[in-house]
Amino acid sequence: MTAADATASPTARAGRATPNQARAARYAVWGALAFNVVIVEILFFTGDPAKNDLIGIAKFIALHAALLMMLQLLLVARLPWLDTWIGADKLTAWHRWTGFTLFWAVVLHASFILTGYARLSDISVLAQIDTFLGVFPTLLGMLAVSLIVVVVALSVRFARRRLSYEAWHTIHLLLYAAVTLAILHQLYEGTTFRANTLTTAYWWALWGLTIVALLHGRVVTPLLRNARHKLRVAAVVPESETVTSVYVTGDDLAGLRARAGQFFIWRFLTPGRWWQANPFSISSTPDGQSLRLTARAVGRTSAGLRHLPVGARVFVEGPYGAFTTLHRTRDATLLIAGGVGITPIRSLLGELDGPVTVLYRVPGPAEAVLLGELEHYVHTRGVTLHLLTGRTGAGDPPNMPFAPENLMSLVPDIRERDVYVCGPPAMTSAVLRSLRDAGVPKRQVHAERFALAGD
Ligand SMILES: Cc1cc2nc3c(=O)[nH]c(=O)nc-3n(C[C@H](O)[C@H](O)[C@H](O)COP(=O)(O)OP(=O)(O)OC[C@H]3O[C@@H](n4cnc5c(N)ncnc54)[C@H](O)[C@@H]3O)c2cc1C
Repeated sequence: MTAADATASPTARAGRATPNQARAARYAVWGALAFNVVIVEILFFTGDPAKNDLIGIAKFIALHAALLMMLQLLLVARLPWLDTWIGADKLTAWHRWTGFTLFWAVVLHASFILTGYARLSDISVLAQIDTFLGVFPTLLGMLAVSLIVVVVALSVRFARRRLSYEAWHTIHLLLYAAVTLAILHQLYEGTTFRANTLTTAYWWALWGLTIVALLHGRVVTPLLRNARHKLRVAAVVPESETVTSVYVTGDDLAGLRARAGQFFIWRFLTPGRWWQANPFSISSTPDGQSLRLTARAVGRTSAGLRHLPVGARVFVEGPYGAFTTLHRTRDATLLIAGGVGITPIRSLLGELDGPVTVLYRVPGPAEAVLLGELEHYVHTRGVTLHLLTGRTGAGDPPNMPFAPENLMSLVPDIRERDVYVCGPPAMTSAVLRSLRDAGVPKRQVHAERFALAGD
């Protein structure tokens, strides 16, 4: 049992969302987007006509691309309410789709502008590119498009796999330069929203709010939080050959308002490490006294955790994530963990009341880290624990721990439970499919995928 649990009261913090809060947050985001799309379309259709149809189409696309750019910045701003109600995994999915759409929007905008002006001047597209290179506002726009194309090309799955996370992340930061160039391009070039003072004020207010939200979420809030809580490493504990726990303390940790199941982005301020920032879930139940992360060594940062000096300063961003009891809809809960996916599951366990069953999938008992803590809940709170071991598909009948019929036999009332799933991507997808086949309503299913909205 961790120090955290000695004082944790399972029910005290187990608040729940009112039924439709998560949906309301989604509607708020898409409603705000739809509202602004309508406004820019009104501006476009009531504005001065373009010099020809191709330039008109280019301007129409450009306005929508600018809105998508703002949405993209908001999705990575790590705004606490977006994160709490929508969740990091959904924001990641939205971020990918927005990025994909934005990419095609800027490519189409550039193509239509080039062909439109080439036709207007009766010159070739290449000659038009040459002309645009000599005009400052269009040069800015062309640089922005080029940067976006490079970053997107390197973000597609094939190229991404060949890059280290740090290299990919640094390249991704070029997008902030592309956004800056695009804003300057609009400042010099934009005509649609310069129709009158009101439309100009509206447009720059939108950009202003977006940038303030981004700075607030990514810079101001983390700086203030860390200055206030002064986090430092209290202990480093090996859990197995490859898994390590790091205990962190600080001032007024209750003020961080971390919930079980959430994660932080951790940066350990020691020489050679301070520039690495990695997401790890909280693996204890937050009690206002200490926090713990438990990480499997997969690369340089996670392997290096074992050598962290006690007393090292820690800089965190967060808490983030919607994998919490806030989204619980039923009294009974099923927690499903695979490997190191046990971390947020263990954290949730200390905050849940009502009947709880845990399915913990590991190759063998030796790999089942934090098992002693789970067993503690079995003995003191009547939690049911099934350790699912062995190779998937081995034996006769084949070992299929997450087949729908196996889930139903292990947890006969599965449809009446909220189900929290955290494990390797393939396992998580298989479990989600089985839950659907077993008839568990979608709103009762909560998954943490260990994947972030882009930085
Ligand atoms: C929300 C969330 C919660 C997580 N919780 C845990 C946990 O509790 N325990 C645990 O063991 N692992 C957890 N992970 C995974 C953990 O973040 C990665 O294993 C770790 O960052 C690997 O870093 P590395 O430098 O050791 O390895 P690398 O070899 O550098 O990275 C291995 C892979 O990890 C991912 N990764 C690396 N750095 C980052 C980063 N800064 N942000 C996002 N992904 C990155 C990349 O996909 C990369 O390809 C979590 C991930 C997320 C997104």
